[in-house]
Formats: sequence, C-alpha cells, structure tokens
Amino acid sequence: MSVSRRDFFKLSGSGIAAATLGLNLVPIEAKAQELAIRYAKESTTICPYCSVGCGMIVHTLGGNIINVEGDPDHPINEGALCPKGSSVYQLRDNKARVTKPMYRAAGAADWQEVSWEWALDEIAKKTKGTRDASFLATSKIKVKQKVGNVEVEKEIEAVVNRTMGIASVGSAALDNEECYLYQKFLRGLGLVYIEHQARI
Ligand code: SF4
Repeated sequence: MSVSRRDFFKLSGSGIAAATLGLNLVPIEAKAQELAIRYAKESTTICPYCSVGCGMIVHTLGGNIINVEGDPDHPINEGALCPKGSSVYQLRDNKARVTKPMYRAAGAADWQEVSWEWALDEIAKKTKGTRDASFLATSKIKVKQKVGNVEVEKEIEAVVNRTMGIASVGSAALDNEECYLYQKFLRGLGLVYIEHQARI
C-alpha cells in the first residue's frame, strides 16, 4: 500500500500510521551497554612523551590499565590525544621494554645487564674525560671594529670556555624547572650543542 505524505500526516495522530507502516510500538526495555570502566579507578595524569603535556585520564582495574583517554577538562588538549599518547599504556604493558641499564662494551657483540650505580659512574667518568680533553678556554674569532669612519675586521683571542666534544639531546618530557637545571648543568660544562626532541 502506498501512503502519500498528506495521508501520513493524517494518520500519524491516531497511531494508525504505525500499524500501516508495520511499526511495533510495544514498549521495550532499553538500556545502555555496560561500560567496561564502570568499576575502574580513575586517575588523571600528564602524558610523559612530549612537551605538549596533554592531560590524560587513566582507568585501572585490579592493578591493570584498561583505558586511556584525553582529559576533556585539560586546557591544553581538551580531551584529544595523539596516537602516541593514546598508546601510553605500553609504557607499562610491554614485554619488549628494557627496565634495567644495559651495557655493550666497545667491540663486544652482546649487551650485559649492569647496575644503575655502575652505569651512572661510567657516564660521569666519560663525560668528564671528554669534556676535559675537548675543552677550549680561548679561541681566535673575527670581530669588526670602527677605526675612524672605516670598519675593519680583525682577529682576536676571545674567552669561550666551551667544549665541542659533547652534544646533548634532552628529553621533551622535562618540565620547566628540570629544563632550567639541565641547561645550567650543560652550560656549566661548556656545551654549545644543546637540543631537545619535542615533536611540534
Ligand atoms: S601530543 Fe601526543 S605525545 Fe605529546 S603530550 Fe600530547 S598525547 Fe602525549
């Protein structure tokens, strides 16, 4: 049976339209699907990966992370997360993650597990050794000077107190205060090449 638009409006008020169109108006019980995070503990945190510093909500159940999502109340990301941030649970749930310091001696084929104390002492020793061996207190530089109305270039021995033997690629996970301290430390050693790895 065909029903014109006019007929439909005429019939709809009486409920006949439903029968005509084959609709079942018997009330049925409807409920939302039960959320997996219903009994989970909710914690807010900051993504550790880059300097954007997106706010996150992490749901845990029985000590396991079951959901990660952007925090809609966070002023920076307003609920959004990039793919890397969305997979942040892999920082914890990842069989391939290295959790102890590993060392491969020069020329060796295999890595060996070492203690943090040993690793940090080695890093300090190598940093100091390289810095001392490559440190330059002064260097010849060219400067321009005015002699009367004429600009002349001349070479002078300038104090530089620098090392070109070490470069630093810092972490975008550092906050302002950590960056400040890190800069102080690196400049104190005389580093010139200082970078970091924020992705925006
Ligand atoms: S942009 Fe991505 S990696 Fe950077 S803080 Fe936000 S979620 Fe994390």
